[in-house]
Amino acid sequence: MSDFAATTRNRVRRIPARGHYDKAVIYPIIDEALICHVGFVADGLPYVIPTIHARSGDKLIFHGAKASRMMKQIASGKTICVTFTLLDGLVLARSTFHSSMNYRSAVVFGRGRPLTDDAEKMAALEILTEHLAHGRWADARPPNAKELNSTAVAKLTIESASAKIRTGPPGDDEEDYALPIWAGVLSIQQQYLPPIDDPGLADGLAAPDYIVNYSRNGKGDAD
Ligand SMILES: Cc1cc2nc3c(=O)[nH]c(=O)nc-3n(C[C@H](O)[C@H](O)[C@H](O)COP(=O)(O)OP(=O)(O)OC[C@H]3O[C@@H](n4cnc5c(N)ncnc54)[C@H](O)[C@@H]3O)c2cc1C
Repeated sequence: MSDFAATTRNRVRRIPARGHYDKAVIYPIIDEALICHVGFVADGLPYVIPTIHARSGDKLIFHGAKASRMMKQIASGKTICVTFTLLDGLVLARSTFHSSMNYRSAVVFGRGRPLTDDAEKMAALEILTEHLAHGRWADARPPNAKELNSTAVAKLTIESASAKIRTGPPGDDEEDYALPIWAGVLSIQQQYLPPIDDPGLADGLAAPDYIVNYSRNGKGDAD
């Protein structure tokens, strides 16, 4: 029995063997991704907006300007669709038809609510900051009252979700394997380069260890 029931809404139809419905598969994809895309319908038109997210247990946290349409939609309680994509490789088959990508992706459905309590907003912003750079919240100046007031924060409860994962070499047609065409996978890895000091950096400050040794590891298990 999966954590999320596969229904007409979240069942992966094409190549169903690549579909997953367990939190143990879906949540690490959400946690590794630095950004997501938020999909909603407003005034009869569809929008898909890239944004920053963080996960806390079965909730997703978003923040933005108070006037942001996306934030208003997330907070409205209407069902929102959020997608996450991690690209792992270009799959170069002998045929263009079978050429593909290796990836780990997740699609989440849920409804959100606005956070209005300052302490709750602050706690959510800490989770968001820590999602981007673990250790940063303790270092950076926290939002002051004015900044907190001008920031909308919303929490979305994950109601339904799926992951789809492709790995491995191309799957060409049997007769194409004899063709004199190179085929294989060009792996993709996101690389974080050495940090660049801000030109206005005060004297004697070095980048902290959590930046120098930055890596994306699983977070978001609180709550
Ligand atoms: C990097 C990348 C590149 C891709 N390129 C293509 C492409 O060029 N053409 C193409 O047709 N497809 C592509 N896909 C696959 C695409 O995301 C869909 O899986 C595909 O369109 C088949 O959807 P469907 O008809 O089975 O399901 P749909 O009816 O579209 O969706 C049903 C439900 O299945 C789940 N689902 C579907 N796809 C995914 C997914 N990727 N991750 C998690 N859950 C999912 C969702 O819960 C969704 O609500 C790509 C995926 C990724 C991550």
